[in-house]
Amino acid sequence: AIYKYAKKLCPHCLTESAYCRKIWDWDLVTACYIHQCVLMKQCSSCHKNIQWSRPAVTRCRCGFDFRTGLAQTATFHQVNLSAYLSSLEKSLATVQISRD
Ligand SMILES: [Zn+2]
Ligand SMILES: [Zn+2]
Repeated sequence: AIYKYAKKLCPHCLTESAYCRKIWDWDLVTACYIHQCVLMKQCSSCHKNIQWSRPAVTRCRCGFDFRTGLAQTATFHQVNLSAYLSSLEKSLATVQISRD
């Protein structure tokens, strides 16, 4: 699932497509398992926490482009957990509720 804003983000994913992944807002998700980096929570320029309300999905209120931000390398554990939660989210989205 993709949506427009998140308070944590992966600069590499934003470079590929200017959408946030909904799962980035899950508290337990701290890394992008695709790029194996820690999700950015703060703007590299103004050092404020990333907000939902901002001029554009890729842009901070201060004007900084998150796509130019440097993400730290995530630990094996962070990547594994994020990959697991992502697969969980996908299966939740496709669950069909059947009623007799
Ligand atoms: Zn990514
Ligand atoms: Zn900023």
